[in-house]
Amino acid sequence: MPELAEVEYYRKQWEPGVGGEVVRVLTHPAARIYRDIPAAAVESGLAGRTFLASHAHGKQMLFSFSGGAWLGLHLGMSGELRTAPGGHAPAKHEHLVLDLGDQSLVFSDYRMFGCLGLDLVDDNEPPAWWRELPPQPLDPRFTKKRVKEFVWRFPRTPLKTLLLDQRGFPGIGNWMADEICWQLRIPPQTLSGSLDEARLDDVWKETRRVSREAMRVIGTDWGDLADAWLMNHRWRDGGICPRRGCRTGLVREDLRGRTTCWCPKCQG
Ligand SMILES: [Zn+2]
Repeated sequence: MPELAEVEYYRKQWEPGVGGEVVRVLTHPAARIYRDIPAAAVESGLAGRTFLASHAHGKQMLFSFSGGAWLGLHLGMSGELRTAPGGHAPAKHEHLVLDLGDQSLVFSDYRMFGCLGLDLVDDNEPPAWWRELPPQPLDPRFTKKRVKEFVWRFPRTPLKTLLLDQRGFPGIGNWMADEICWQLRIPPQTLSGSLDEARLDDVWKETRRVSREAMRVIGTDWGDLADAWLMNHRWRDGGICPRRGCRTGLVREDLRGRTTCWCPKCQG
């Protein structure tokens, strides 16, 4: 599932289209991604407008068009963005194609957990729901104080589960949450209320470090993270903890509905 850095990567895929005018909008109206807004409204709402800019926030994206049109996109489990030549005919899983004449902007989603929305506003401000999103880990407003106040509201929730809560940690998903716990040597099941202030400062710092590194490596051109990170070992059957001197077999188990990977020695 795309997390903050993967979302940033996909956002940039439509950048070559900035400045182009939407000459045609092609959709699959029955696709489940149109559960919040009918495809016809997206077609009529975007046709003839100029693509101005794109933004990413956590797991969400926002694309602005001339005349106050804002297209919001959530990639869900399997959503992807890419460009194609102008006049591109949508394939089976390509539920939205914006034809700009010389190129096409394509949104595909074969599992259809993604969704989209369109706001038409009178001024040039992004819609209110976007402006009200909580600060992302690399935002200066994502402070130690904010993290502590958020965590202390849920003392009986495991740290790993809380790291997935988009109200407190927008953009953090399954692999990043496991990585943060592993880097800090904290068992993912640790109840948040048992972490003292110094430990929560560490959580803040590590959340930012993992986010920064993910953005640098994945958010730019989808490179590979360092082999010394848990990420590269977590899905492998028989995966071994990559920490120098540890080499213990990793554990993968369900924690509150999400597959969770950790090292029983480092995080014991
Ligand atoms: Zn280990």
